[in-house]
Amino acid sequence: MGKTAVPTPSILAEVTAVLATWAMLSEAEKVALLRPCHIQLTEQSRSADQYGSSIRGNVRALWSGAVDVEQFMIAMRATVQRGLTQAWHEGAGECGIKPDELTDAETKALEAAVRSEYSYIFAFGEYIEANNKANKGRLQDLYGRVSLWVNRYLDITNRAKVMACRDQKLEWVLNYVRGTKESCPSCKKLAGQVRRGSMWERWGVRPQSPPNRRLACGGWKCGCGLVPTDKPVSRGRLPTLP
Ligand SMILES: [Zn+2]
Repeated sequence: MGKTAVPTPSILAEVTAVLATWAMLSEAEKVALLRPCHIQLTEQSRSADQYGSSIRGNVRALWSGAVDVEQFMIAMRATVQRGLTQAWHEGAGECGIKPDELTDAETKALEAAVRSEYSYIFAFGEYIEANNKANKGRLQDLYGRVSLWVNRYLDITNRAKVMACRDQKLEWVLNYVRGTKESCPSCKKLAGQVRRGSMWERWGVRPQSPPNRRLACGGWKCGCGLVPTDKPVSRGRLPTLP
């Protein structure tokens, strides 16, 4: 299918195509698809898990040849748009802000995050095609990359939190993402720091957010979270980073 073959964004039709592919899978394949990959997800973030499942569904469809790169891109855009919006609402919700209460600045920041994520879809699609079933590529290897996309989901949740909790206090919590064991020295230095959302935002220090120059781990597999708290604000400056 060439670029001109899709005159209008027929996103729903493409998503339906991916879902139809899903329906054809065996139970064993579905179980394999739903198994969480590198990042073990929390109850707090079950929707991040769903985000990973949707992406794995898209990856599998392209890997197996059920859809072409263009259809993959359309389906991925829908997944990213839906997923990151959900992530933002989830983060803001932890600060008591409802979806229809977002400010213009927050809405713009969400849109920018979605656009930025779109820019990685094509390269991901090309990589999958080069390593597809016909080329004897392994699906599990491709799934390994999905954790990076799920990491972005967590990143967006934190970004939403520092904006929505501007005047509220957020504590940097290690191993917030269940199953992670932080060994990053920067994250360990930040553990227990309590600051207002506006301060975290001003300093630009957030969990995940790869590539993250403030963290020695780069944020790629960061399991930390910013959690609303009643604990007293930490005194003094932030520890020297990374
Ligand atoms: Zn971390």
